[in-house]
Amino acid sequence: MPKVVESVFQPASALDYLPRPELERLQLHRLRAVVKRAWDQVPLFRSRMEGRGLVPEDIRSLGDVSALAFTVKADLRDTYPFGLFASPMQDIVRLHASSGTTGKPIVVAYTRADLEVWSSVMVRSFAACGLHHGDIVQNAYGYGLFTGGLGAHYGAESLGATVIPISGGNTDRQIMVMSDFKVTAVCCTPSYFLHLVDRASELGVDLRKLPVRAGVFGAEPWTEAMRRHIEEAAGIKAFDIYGLSEIIGPGVAIECERQDGLHIFEDHFYPEIVDPETGQNLPEGEEGELVLTTLSKQAMPLIRYRTRDITALVPGACACGRTLRRMRRIGRRSDDMLIVRGVNVFPSQIETVLLEFEGTLPHYQIILTREHGLDQMEIQVEVTAHMFSDTVGALESLQDKLAEAMERVLQIRVQIVLVEPRTLQRSEGKARRVVDRRLS
Ligand SMILES: [Zn+2]
Repeated sequence: MPKVVESVFQPASALDYLPRPELERLQLHRLRAVVKRAWDQVPLFRSRMEGRGLVPEDIRSLGDVSALAFTVKADLRDTYPFGLFASPMQDIVRLHASSGTTGKPIVVAYTRADLEVWSSVMVRSFAACGLHHGDIVQNAYGYGLFTGGLGAHYGAESLGATVIPISGGNTDRQIMVMSDFKVTAVCCTPSYFLHLVDRASELGVDLRKLPVRAGVFGAEPWTEAMRRHIEEAAGIKAFDIYGLSEIIGPGVAIECERQDGLHIFEDHFYPEIVDPETGQNLPEGEEGELVLTTLSKQAMPLIRYRTRDITALVPGACACGRTLRRMRRIGRRSDDMLIVRGVNVFPSQIETVLLEFEGTLPHYQIILTREHGLDQMEIQVEVTAHMFSDTVGALESLQDKLAEAMERVLQIRVQIVLVEPRTLQRSEGKARRVVDRRLS
């Protein structure tokens, strides 16, 4: 029996249904205020506006936002730790920081009002996934400086759900809690949930028989094929949530029950799509880089922040009735593109191919090396236990078919290495898909 996701109206969600003219008036009012705040409080924003001969009063319409300069991740690093704050420290009640892969992290700040906004967009996110008062939410996002844990935590509490702050890791305990506490919804990265599904099956626990009916998954790109795989294996509805620490954390956009694009909470975040090369605005429906302006952030407003996430705005209204515009799910980031022998390769393409094959698991790692000046790409792929116990011939045939399918999709020759189940390292957060040894 498929589990039903009920739709219960949440009062906080009323803003999801504002008539467009009313929403746009609110956006413009907030845009003008946030630009003024940035001008008054943040030297970097002021000098960039002055450099373009602009003053805050020049922002008269929403379209005028495109006259402003972009903000990029390097700006956050260059002003480390507090250089972009627009509130005095005594008004800042929380700091978070991103896990930088190299050097210093980036730091983000919240006033009390910012935290209230954050909780409210998370309440609206959970409500859009059909969650409500009475749900039992297992929050397996990492708690700490990462925004995922506390963002989901306070949102679910504000919704009136029961929150289990289990954080990431200790997979066997996660499965025990999911079963014993009669959990109805799980929050984590999609790759970690996939790991939970595999481990549950090893332990003989059938997730489809548990009360869990929804997953709110984010913090890394994932594919439609991965969604189908998760939904079937766990008997849940899997929703894609989008956010980034620089803007607020999780809760920038969420799928509704239609699962046809993510509604952006436009009353707080103003979206644009630009050509990643030229920075020019692209028309609705065209794919490009998502740029966001925070409309209500006090402690750290960001103007035209380049997210590096590639998406498109979906034309037309959603059948759910929300008036908030939608964006396509993020399949890739402009900075996770690999260039192998001059060809652009995205990890999401590999994931999609793997999910089409029986006998493989969507656990994979890409190893890039360089031999005699030529890039070599190896994809290590885990096979199912059943497949691994099969004959050598069957494994070889699978390997050949995979190599052929990859070559067709990626347009380059790759080496496939099939490995035993559970060989590749599991991540409790974002999966590490690529090991690039070409530079070392
Ligand atoms: Zn919708």
